[in-house]
Amino acid sequence: MALPDSILRRLEEVVDPDRISTGESNLSLHAKDESFHEPHLPDVVIWPKDTEEVSRIVRICHDANIPVTPWGAGTSLEGNPIPVRGGVVIDLQQMNEILGIREDDLQVDVQAGVVFKDLNKKLARYGLFFPPDPGASATIGGMVANNASGIRAIKYGATKDLIQKLTVVLADGEIIRPGTLAFKTSSGLDLCRLFAGSEGILGIITEITLRLVGIPPEFLSATVSFPDAESATQTISQIIRSGLSPAALEFLGINCVRLVNKYTEEFDFPESPLVFIEFHGTNKEGLAIDLDLVRGLCEDNGATHFQAGIGRQARAKLWQARYDLHDFILREHPGLEPMAIDTAVPISKLPALVTYAERIALESDIIGYVFGHAGSGNIHMPMMGNPRDKTSWDVLEDINHRLVEYAISLGGTATGEHGVGIGKMQFMEMEHGTSLKIMRQIKHLFDPKGILNPGKMF
Ligand SMILES: Cc1cc2nc3c(=O)[nH]c(=O)nc-3n(C[C@H](O)[C@H](O)[C@H](O)COP(=O)(O)OP(=O)(O)OC[C@H]3O[C@@H](n4cnc5c(N)ncnc54)[C@H](O)[C@@H]3O)c2cc1C
Repeated sequence: MALPDSILRRLEEVVDPDRISTGESNLSLHAKDESFHEPHLPDVVIWPKDTEEVSRIVRICHDANIPVTPWGAGTSLEGNPIPVRGGVVIDLQQMNEILGIREDDLQVDVQAGVVFKDLNKKLARYGLFFPPDPGASATIGGMVANNASGIRAIKYGATKDLIQKLTVVLADGEIIRPGTLAFKTSSGLDLCRLFAGSEGILGIITEITLRLVGIPPEFLSATVSFPDAESATQTISQIIRSGLSPAALEFLGINCVRLVNKYTEEFDFPESPLVFIEFHGTNKEGLAIDLDLVRGLCEDNGATHFQAGIGRQARAKLWQARYDLHDFILREHPGLEPMAIDTAVPISKLPALVTYAERIALESDIIGYVFGHAGSGNIHMPMMGNPRDKTSWDVLEDINHRLVEYAISLGGTATGEHGVGIGKMQFMEMEHGTSLKIMRQIKHLFDPKGILNPGKMF
């Protein structure tokens, strides 16, 4: 249904003319995220500047039954912000003010459109940081809505663990402010956690108070090569069980190591599975003891190459290479699109999941780029293909299905951090069973008309 002119006129009354657009290029920029999912054009894109404007926009849409899809930076990998039913996209990127830093309480108040990298640059002056790191230039609102996590979740948790308070515009335009500034609370139902991972289907998050962490004075990193994926992932599981507390524990399968060697000048790792390890702490001596324990575990599991004592600059390059892996994979397969795998399992089941992923990739004759935040049991395997070539795309769909099914059978989940979006909707019943009914009822309670990011999650 095209947006009636009368509604467009009313929306134009809410924001300045340069913050509302029906122009083709703006609509196209908001039709697709970073996934392969089919683009859908919205009817109009609006860039509000504060909560009040968001509320007025949503109220108009609510009265007229117009779909509303919030948009952060569009870096999702499962079609999460694609406006599948058209309507209004509310792009929060101009709500990008850091509203206040309370360094003594380790808290910051931000508007939802603040990009987490910009936030961390600012916080560095205070010796503080916000640990979740999805690599891409995501907004804090998008990170809350997808419950993003990334490489440091193993030590500091996911975004949901660091939310103190939210400001949310509900489907009828009402503004609520769940949460507390206190470090702990037992007061009532935890609405902040309900909005974390809600992908824009329950409300539009406009402001967030985050809990921060002090930047650790010392870092220690190591890279370790293993003869096979099983010994690498078994070691990861043992490191966690031994009570050590790494800040990052990343796995790269052999195909990923090849790409890092090919596309970076700095690195020439042995062509075998690789683990990146990082410890954060207050003094070098303590970290060195931890790393020695890790070295012992790695050697016991047959590690073939252990490099520690990586300097600050090399460490930055190492992480950059890890972040760039997604781009390396795209560069290696020009013209093809990635289907994302984002399964997560209990840590003891990691070796089984990785071995299974590599085996079915091999059997299906596709290149399995297995990597992930292995320390938190989260494994990706982007598979490159052409969504318009049904026969070959069906092979990828089948692998996606088998891998998710296997992860769930191991007690795991279809999505560790990317969210459900469009791509993982098909697994919700399998993963949640009868709980799905309650989720649907919650959605109905918050959004009885179904206008918020319709066509997603359920
Ligand atoms: C190369 C690459 C690597 C990545 N690596 C990781 C990773 O390691 N870990 C990880 O967790 N993710 C990763 N991601 C995925 C993505 O970056 C995250 O999911 C991120 O949180 C999305 O944020 P965004 O601002 O782009 O949100 P968008 O993609 O714009 O939106 C995300 C979802 O939230 C909704 N939404 C957006 N803003 C709001 C709001 N203010 N209120 C309510 N709903 C809202 C949207 O409707 C959508 O459903 C990666 C992506 C890329 C491209």
